[in-house]
Amino acid sequence: QEIILSVKNLKTYYEIKQGMFKPNKVIKAVDDVSFDVYKGETLALVGESGCGKSTIGRTILNLTQATSGEVLFNDKDLTTLNFNEMRSLRHRLQMIFQDPYASLNPKKTILQIVMEPLKVHDKYKPQERLQKIIEILEIVGLSEYHLERYPHEFSGGQRQRIGIARAVILHPDFIVADEPVSALDVSVQSQVINLMLDVQKQLGLTYLFISHDLSVVQHMTDRVAVMYLGRIVEIATTEELFDNPKHPYTKALLSAVPISHPQEKSNRILLTGDVPSPANPPTGCTFHPRCEFATELCQQQSPSATHFSASHQVHCHLYQEGANELCY
Ligand code: SF4
Ligand code: MG
Repeated sequence: QEIILSVKNLKTYYEIKQGMFKPNKVIKAVDDVSFDVYKGETLALVGESGCGKSTIGRTILNLTQATSGEVLFNDKDLTTLNFNEMRSLRHRLQMIFQDPYASLNPKKTILQIVMEPLKVHDKYKPQERLQKIIEILEIVGLSEYHLERYPHEFSGGQRQRIGIARAVILHPDFIVADEPVSALDVSVQSQVINLMLDVQKQLGLTYLFISHDLSVVQHMTDRVAVMYLGRIVEIATTEELFDNPKHPYTKALLSAVPISHPQEKSNRILLTGDVPSPANPPTGCTFHPRCEFATELCQQQSPSATHFSASHQVHCHLYQEGANELCY
């Protein structure tokens, strides 16, 4: 499989002020994350809110500055590019946002909104642009008839179609979609997801799909990376992850999905306690305060990766060499 984008040891830390006499706190929003994205796939990034999913997406697109590590795309490390260098790649790397209303300028018509990227990147001759916009609107299920209308005249699902049109008008290769359907009514979600899959096929897109909704992820993605407190704890193909989850956190997340494993309702694992603050993460395996299998080793040492197959990796002491296999 061809790798389109490679994230290596990425860290995104923030400092927050705590007042005049206290030192700043460091928030480790993304803490040493590595993964590859394959051309044409949809890779999901899942986890509870605050685990760093959105920050990874923003850091990859250089909308947030990385603290260290690399994001390799097209033989370039995106984290080192300045504004102008990044701008010259922006047409290949785009974003779809969670809230289609907040991300569309209410004072602009659909024509102006979808035209803007073409002007900024000087793509197509001015007299060709209208035709290209109409083509893209048709791909996303809108038409010429909508060109002079404003965002407030559309439903939530239609507004996300406009957001998708704006993201794909430059024919990008890679799109970060940050919770693209979670603000929509459930009845509209599957329409927008099917549209995204359709557009992906037609335009040859690769998606990084950020979501906390595992039933959506199971339906539309090829692989899944599970995040907890700024780290990836498990990564696998979607099938492997749903059929054979290994990490106790993944198991807990999946057991909370009502439809995926109805026969195993009695095995539901409850996640107890809140997610600890990323400003003050637990030692060792950061999941240990919430993990029923935690040992002393878990409190002391951060687990390294164990490979179950070429595509399935987990970070958990239960599976490290010499570890007692317990009930697994
Ligand atoms: Fe639980 Fe230990 Fe595995 Fe962390 S490393 S998930 S605490 S068993
Ligand atoms: Mg988020």
